[in-house]
Amino acid sequence: MDGMNRVGDLFGAGKMFLPQVVKSARVMKRAVAILEPYMESEQDGRTSKGRIVMATVKGDVHDIGKNIVGVVLQCNNYEVVDLGVMTPAADILEAARREKADIIGLSGLITPSLDEMCVVASEMARGDFDIPLLIGGATTSKAHTAVKIDPCYTQGSVVHVSDASRTVGVVSRLLSPEHSDTFKAETRRDYTALAERHARGAETSRVGTLEAARANPFQPNAPAPPPAPSFLGTKTFDDYPLDELRRFIDWTPFFRSWELAGRYPEILDDPEVGEAASALFKDAQAMLDRIIAEKLLTARGVIGFWPAARAGDDILIYTDETRRETRARLCTLRQQMQRQAGGRPNFALADFIAAPEQGADYLGGFAVTSGIGADALAQTFERAGDDYNAILSKALGDRLAEAFAERMHQRVRTEFWGYAPEENLDNSALIAEAYQGIRPAAGYPAQPDHTEKATLFALLDAQKAIGARLTDSFVMWPASSVSGLYFAHPESVYFGVGKIGRDQVQDYAARKGLEVAECEKWLAPILDYAV
Ligand code: SAH
Repeated sequence: MDGMNRVGDLFGAGKMFLPQVVKSARVMKRAVAILEPYMESEQDGRTSKGRIVMATVKGDVHDIGKNIVGVVLQCNNYEVVDLGVMTPAADILEAARREKADIIGLSGLITPSLDEMCVVASEMARGDFDIPLLIGGATTSKAHTAVKIDPCYTQGSVVHVSDASRTVGVVSRLLSPEHSDTFKAETRRDYTALAERHARGAETSRVGTLEAARANPFQPNAPAPPPAPSFLGTKTFDDYPLDELRRFIDWTPFFRSWELAGRYPEILDDPEVGEAASALFKDAQAMLDRIIAEKLLTARGVIGFWPAARAGDDILIYTDETRRETRARLCTLRQQMQRQAGGRPNFALADFIAAPEQGADYLGGFAVTSGIGADALAQTFERAGDDYNAILSKALGDRLAEAFAERMHQRVRTEFWGYAPEENLDNSALIAEAYQGIRPAAGYPAQPDHTEKATLFALLDAQKAIGARLTDSFVMWPASSVSGLYFAHPESVYFGVGKIGRDQVQDYAARKGLEVAECEKWLAPILDYAV
């Protein structure tokens, strides 16, 4: 018990960092098992400070953050019932009832999960719950929690937790007999004020008409299309060598996933977090050695190139080089913010592809995974009570997937498409995107619509090629998978679509052959109007 509190205290005081806390949790868990019989018993035989049911919501597969939070809570003597990933609302509510949960915690990484969290909150309201609801994960925010989720569940407290290190503070206040009422009232007041400010802000929108945005597209200086790729159609890579991918890992986000702030490699010598970062890095290298030597993960990828042409804000993919028959239509969204005359263009990804009369252009696409075997690997650690290595293995899986995307993109530029055969960049230049062309991913700012992955997956026949599929929310399963499009244009850049108006949503829905309401659901985070 003392050990647990000590870890909790050191962590709370900023003297211990997440990797150390999680690593020590294994020892702590054993200590609890031994000490439990001597600890004070509460009603219904509980010995913990409270029980939290946690889940990654339906359609979403990422759980590194949630797992870290779970361990931190356990270190502070809370009981955690983890329902895993892709959990439907009904299962979460049922588990909360069965376990007599004191709190429900929801996690999500991708934007459709925001909508799903509102579903869970509404179901809690309908089911007469009154326990607090915690919201966390990369895509979530205090603003979204205040504006969208809080109003769905007024009989209970809804609290956004911005990072794992804050969770214990929030949970202990929520469950404290003395402080909980004040904390809940303050949070609600804070969120209501935020929602009101947000509503006022929406009235002073800077979104112009779709027509005006289309009149100001990006017009490249060099419209000349790239050379033809070395092949058309797809190419599959089974069992891509992991030791080749290792050299392409971008380590900075790895440290961020453990809430260690700083850039690699400087972070290893950082006066504050350097020691924790170095120890973590060493453990990561050792595990990577094992993963590679024992082939604990398998990497598979597929890339494709197709004759393509711009058609308004869309990109048409042709069946072959005759360019007579259309095989697919990739829909893109256009920036709709009001621009000064002669200022920046209103970008759409389609602007980077030549119209038919400008010459024969091409589009590429890819889907890669390094997540095959990841679940089994994590489970061997979880069964041994070793959360640290379970989380580490998942974090390394994610890093290998991004490294795979980086390496494949490099080979596409120099070899498979071959539009930059002379390119010669080291890993830091690759991470800094010093090359020609982009690989935008659906669900990211230049194409916030995750559903476009369905078109890409069909073009690549990705499920058959690499064994990855799309969930209800169009996120790739297994986790540790990445997909995107390849644009070769020298002036292609990443941008953010930003907020869009009703006129564009109606136009986009018609192009996609979907109901407007369906599109509004997928585009909810970028709508400039209330639905
Ligand atoms: N080296 C980093 C790369 C992460 S972000 C890592 O290992 O984690 C890089 C990817 O996110 C890009 O390759 C691209 O696929 C996607 N991306 C980033 N910004 C984007 C934007 N504005 N629009 C679309 N996709 C984007």
